[in-house]
Amino acid sequence: MQIVDKIYIDGAFVKPHGDELFDLFNPATEQVIGRALLADAQDARDAIAAAKRAFPAFSTTDKRERIEMLMRMHDAVVAKEEELCLAITEEYGAPVSRGRWMAQHASNVLLEAAKVLEDYAFTRRAGAAEVVMQPLGVAGLITPWNSDAGFICGKLASALAAGCTAVIKPSEMSAIQTRIVTEALHEAGLPSGVVNIVTGRGETVGAQISSHPDVAKLSFTGSTAVGKTILRAAADTLKRVTLELGGKSPVIVLDDANFDDVVPLAIQAGFMNSGQACIAGTRILVPQKRLEAFEARVREEVARTQVGDPRDPQTTVGPMVSQKQWERVQRYIRIGTDEGARLIAGGEGRPDGIGAGWFVRPTVFSDVTNDMAIAREEIFGPVLSIITYRDTEDAISIANDTNYGLQAYVFSADAKRAREVASRIEAGRVLVNTLAHEPAAPFGGFKQSGIGREYGTFGLEAFLEPKAVLAA
Ligand code: NAD
Repeated sequence: MQIVDKIYIDGAFVKPHGDELFDLFNPATEQVIGRALLADAQDARDAIAAAKRAFPAFSTTDKRERIEMLMRMHDAVVAKEEELCLAITEEYGAPVSRGRWMAQHASNVLLEAAKVLEDYAFTRRAGAAEVVMQPLGVAGLITPWNSDAGFICGKLASALAAGCTAVIKPSEMSAIQTRIVTEALHEAGLPSGVVNIVTGRGETVGAQISSHPDVAKLSFTGSTAVGKTILRAAADTLKRVTLELGGKSPVIVLDDANFDDVVPLAIQAGFMNSGQACIAGTRILVPQKRLEAFEARVREEVARTQVGDPRDPQTTVGPMVSQKQWERVQRYIRIGTDEGARLIAGGEGRPDGIGAGWFVRPTVFSDVTNDMAIAREEIFGPVLSIITYRDTEDAISIANDTNYGLQAYVFSADAKRAREVASRIEAGRVLVNTLAHEPAAPFGGFKQSGIGREYGTFGLEAFLEPKAVLAA
């Protein structure tokens, strides 16, 4: 049983003022594995005050000093990779193959930010003016449970590279992973108050950070509903806001696609992170005339998908993070059936042979129309919808007929044709015949998938304000 009873304020691990004890579960066994003592609004205010005190000195550090800090943070997180990977598997339920990637991603984002900073010019000319990119101030960073360490380190990397100080509010469900990351960051020896981490509830700690007048910038990753609440709370003090929200990403399979190549990628895109991924490809658009062959290939692929013990290297789909999330996914499977969609794999209940844990049967519906709830709403579990289209124009129109626009996938035997389709998709990132990740490229959503971009130069500039100086 792990007890996480400290938060991190002003360079020190301190007991929170808050007194709520929150149970931490292993989602693969449903057992309580720890308890976290949650921070409250007072703790959030203390953390903001520490970040405010640290800002004047930190904002004047030069590029070299900040690159060195990012490198120290990187090395410290690398040193915790093993511990972090174990915690990701135990506390979150990520299959170990995914957990390893997530643990490495947490250190890589720090390295990437250092590279961006190396090449970045904080001063440039615009006509007669000198334009100086100035750090915004105290940044409030609010993160979800589906990649705790990666989001904490990613947001922090850009904020610190820009010269902002930070108050981080991670998900209360990830307290063990957060403790490990916090210890690593402490070991990196940053000046006191530059990084503060207060694990607590969204409605208290998150709401305090989103409305506090001393917070200049908010960067939030989470659901679209909470993103809208945060945007409203930020309006009174006109904070700069970056929102990375939900998705309902289309996977467009063009009529010339080779299904032997494409179906494994489509299933991987749909079931990534056990379906708990904002970028999961959950609407698979297939030419009407090739539906039968596609379904047959999908059935084979899903039958090969191993769901179960996340510690088993062969497992690709682990449990849902919580009972609430498990119930939500079950409800959507029921809704899909009630709406008249046809199950071709999976369905309600636990997978055969699994008696405990919040495991879901990897599920695929066919005969889905784009107006059904299962095609419009983010389920956040391994539940995919196959939607047929008549021709390429129809496919593009269905792909874009969504409130979201985070990511899209296009598969075709003809790369040029696939790129043409990609150019017409309303999404922040389009992957053509690949599932590759590019850490230097901007990441973020069109429409209700968010506002602004993270990573690379765009991510850095989200923490900067241009100031034009004109002198006689
Ligand atoms: P969530 O919106 O419920 O919570 C995210 C964070 O916001 C948590 O730390 C939570 O405590 C906090 N929060 C809740 N209410 C708040 C409030 N009123 N004020 C301030 N903070 C508040 O999301 P979740 O369930 O933790 O994560 C899943 C969601 O995150 C999905 O919708 C997913 O698509 C999205 N997500 C988006 C991206 C992206 O980059 N676009 C990446 C991962 C996850």
